[in-house]
Amino acid sequence: MSLLEQVDAFFNKASSYLTYPKELLEQIRVCNSVLSVSFPIRRDDGRIEVIRGWRAEHSFHRLPTKGGIRLSENVDINEVMALAALMSYKCAIMDIPFGGAKGAIKINPKLYSINEIERIIRRYTFELYRKNFIGPGVDVPGPDMGTNEQHMAWIADTYMAISNDPMYYFACVTGKPVSQGGIRGRKQATGLGVFLALNYIIKDLSKKTIAIQGFGNVGYYLAYYLYNEINAKIVAISDVSGTLFNPNGIDINKLYEYQQENKTIKGFKDGIFFEDPNKVLEVECDILVPAAVENVINENNVDRIKANIIAEAANGPTTFNAHSKLLSLGKLIIPDIYLNAGGVTVSYFEWLKNLSHVRFGRLDKRLREENNLLLIKQIEELTNKKINDRDLEILKNGPKEEDVVKAGLYDTMVNAYEEISETAKRYNTDLKTAAFIVAINKIAITYQQLGIFP
Ligand code: NAD
Repeated sequence: MSLLEQVDAFFNKASSYLTYPKELLEQIRVCNSVLSVSFPIRRDDGRIEVIRGWRAEHSFHRLPTKGGIRLSENVDINEVMALAALMSYKCAIMDIPFGGAKGAIKINPKLYSINEIERIIRRYTFELYRKNFIGPGVDVPGPDMGTNEQHMAWIADTYMAISNDPMYYFACVTGKPVSQGGIRGRKQATGLGVFLALNYIIKDLSKKTIAIQGFGNVGYYLAYYLYNEINAKIVAISDVSGTLFNPNGIDINKLYEYQQENKTIKGFKDGIFFEDPNKVLEVECDILVPAAVENVINENNVDRIKANIIAEAANGPTTFNAHSKLLSLGKLIIPDIYLNAGGVTVSYFEWLKNLSHVRFGRLDKRLREENNLLLIKQIEELTNKKINDRDLEILKNGPKEEDVVKAGLYDTMVNAYEEISETAKRYNTDLKTAAFIVAINKIAITYQQLGIFP
């Protein structure tokens, strides 16, 4: 099954618990609009190459639509539609007032120079603009596999240059560098969201052994927080070159330094290296986190998965049949449409910041600090005790942007989990099906309240 068929299969399973008219379910399931583009770019050596790209806007029940842009040579239109659908469900689950979208450009970014990639991204943005597939109230891209802050800055800059929108142009894309209208914490947000959720859901996370597939944006920041905040033991990490395994735990900070220098984890001395990037899925561990590409846990390897908890940080890493098999073996699967939603959550905060033109915490930080100090002084006088300097420093501080973002992200992850978990109990089903039920219910209400469907 393709990723689109997998997503539909999960959707249909969740729908079978619900009693909405089939037309309403169909409207929620289908992709509302798809753009396909082809354009020429000049390579550095003078050759001309025709580049293909897509943007799918899955659901207009809320506007703007929102979703990342992926650079990958393996991508196709069906995959983009599937990923856009996941975005709609994800936003609904997290109570983010966006429809879902996704974009992709079919290239292997490693085979292009930075100047060539800039030309491709700017031209792709121009194509989106010409067809009304980008804009602060229309469709707001963000980073995904193969794209980063720099790419988002080029999109914002191109949009600024060609649109007549001097007030809100920064809100046309999220995941930008802080100096270009970005928000503190967006880069880390997806990995941090996975970490905060796992730490909330799994008791004694620091005592578990963990394997992570992918050492990119999501995999690295997840590993960073696991290692540096709770000293968790990460026994295996992979990237596209292979799997690094060390049963005593991997030093994530040293591995990151090595990877930054060498652009690969291959060759890192501390551990055993397997050339197979999927070996990581089968190592002995408590928690397996696929954080790279889709469909990696499938009928061919599901029987060899040893972890009892599968935390889906990537989009669509487990096929429908493999998911059913894992459930039958009593494993816990924490679903992608919930677990990796930290990125879009903080993107939403960035969009709000761009519309309001003010950094979070800017207006009330000083006022809160003064009020906190007053309160602390009163407490000290009343109790005749002095608060120690370390606690005083924490208590008196007003909120900085990164604190507001982290607290907002934590609150969103916890609330969404409670809702999914409660739904799973009510319908006596697994977390993935429950997450889809939550999403379908929330989107269905918006259509019903329009009076279109009964
Ligand atoms: P990235 O490009 O930063 O990193 C991808 C990592 O996966 C790299 O380490 C790469 O070497 C590895 N990889 C690539 N192909 C592989 C393969 N066939 N087998 C094993 N490893 C492979 O991408 P990312 O932004 O970290 O995204 C990873 C996943 O998380 C994707 O499914 C993406 O859709 C999802 N996601 C990303 C974000 C975000 O904010 N970046 C948000 C939500 C979901």
